[in-house]
Amino acid sequence: MSHHKHPKHPVYPGELPPALAREHARVFEAAVEAGRRAGRKAAKKKLKRAARHGGITLSKALRDATLRDAEKAGGRAAYAAATKALRKARPRALPPLPPAPGAEPQHAVAVAGPAPADTAAPVRTRVRGSQIVLEVLRTQWLSQSMVRIVAGGEGFADFESNGAADQHVKVHFANPALGLVPPYEMRSLRGRLAREDLPVSRSYTIRSHDPAAREIAIDFFVHGTDGVGGSWAAGAKSGDLLVLSKSKGKFRPDAGAEQHLYVGDESAIPAIAAALEMLPRNAVGQVILEVDSAQDEFEIDRPAGMALHWVHRSGEPSATSTMLANALRDLPAAHGQVEILALGERSATQEIRRLLSHWDLDQRRITTSNYWTPRKAKRAWRTLPIGNPGSPTE
Ligand SMILES: Cc1cc2nc3c(=O)[nH]c(=O)nc-3n(C[C@H](O)[C@H](O)[C@H](O)COP(=O)(O)OP(=O)(O)OC[C@H]3O[C@@H](n4cnc5c(N)ncnc54)[C@H](O)[C@@H]3O)c2cc1C
Repeated sequence: MSHHKHPKHPVYPGELPPALAREHARVFEAAVEAGRRAGRKAAKKKLKRAARHGGITLSKALRDATLRDAEKAGGRAAYAAATKALRKARPRALPPLPPAPGAEPQHAVAVAGPAPADTAAPVRTRVRGSQIVLEVLRTQWLSQSMVRIVAGGEGFADFESNGAADQHVKVHFANPALGLVPPYEMRSLRGRLAREDLPVSRSYTIRSHDPAAREIAIDFFVHGTDGVGGSWAAGAKSGDLLVLSKSKGKFRPDAGAEQHLYVGDESAIPAIAAALEMLPRNAVGQVILEVDSAQDEFEIDRPAGMALHWVHRSGEPSATSTMLANALRDLPAAHGQVEILALGERSATQEIRRLLSHWDLDQRRITTSNYWTPRKAKRAWRTLPIGNPGSPTE
């Protein structure tokens, strides 16, 4: 009988060390082949019995087609059974993944640095959720707490921009000590890794997308020593991998509005900066951005009529800051066709919504969104002790 391969790749693409992945592929091929043989044999037996006892004889063409179908069905059933068996057996049967050489167990993350030698180059296989694997090309500190990561490479072809100012993606981060190779097949990883070792994802705005240069930029706020996203970005270097999901978001500045009022904290600066770049050059209005101090400010391109006000927390925790709402209260209440975009910490955006509901505005022109929520920081591998985050670089 000819050797047919099952059309699908065995599960676990790109997550196992190559030797183990090859071993799994062999198990699947053997199972599928055995299933096909069993399907054919069972169908032959049935046909024989039908001819002997029921007097039913098929034409050669119909008999061949029936056997082919039975063979396929047998292969499919064996594939499904092998998947199930391996998934069940995994916690016991699979050896732990070798740590990536040179990876420091306590060090954050990302999507682990340049692919470790023994886990091979990233496999650009599509997995559920369509992860896109990019390579960090360069990094640039915009202020002491905001670092721009510019990424591109082969995976750029998989990235589709939706053109929105608040276009955002999930960035996936894995524990570098485990040497996982993206894209991450979460379903299979869930079966063999402890919960705290699973990759995690965080939302980030695509600050810019440049099809000519084939690169995207994301501005990460490094909000302290905890948090996987900020920590990863603070330590990122060229050649590291950046794993993204497909982008979402739909905010586009309303060129028909008479005025624009954009407010937000650091997490919102990338989306607000992208929106400012999209405004017509004669747009007028106000921008209020909350940061900790003057060292966290940086240049933001905008129409001359969009006045920018920085407000400083001066050491107050950002989780409980009411500075944005206070700054809004100090403005003369706007009315009429004002477009409002307010993004940031959950209770701050809620407070802004409440405040705006008392203004005489076209509520359809108000967009608010919760970009982060204060919560307890999590596991050790997701954090990085950062002494001094950064200083602006060119
Ligand atoms: C649509 C969308 C787009 C976003 N775009 C960006 C972006 O472009 N750049 C960006 O930096 N952020 C952006 N954010 C916010 C970002 O997703 C969150 O701040 C995220 O929690 C950061 O993940 P982390 O792993 O660094 O910290 P986490 O592991 O989530 O949290 C660790 C600790 O840090 C605190 N924390 C988390 N975020 C902040 C913060 N912003 N300020 C202060 N403390 C914080 C948490 O309360 C927790 O105590 C966006 C969020 C959304 C929903």
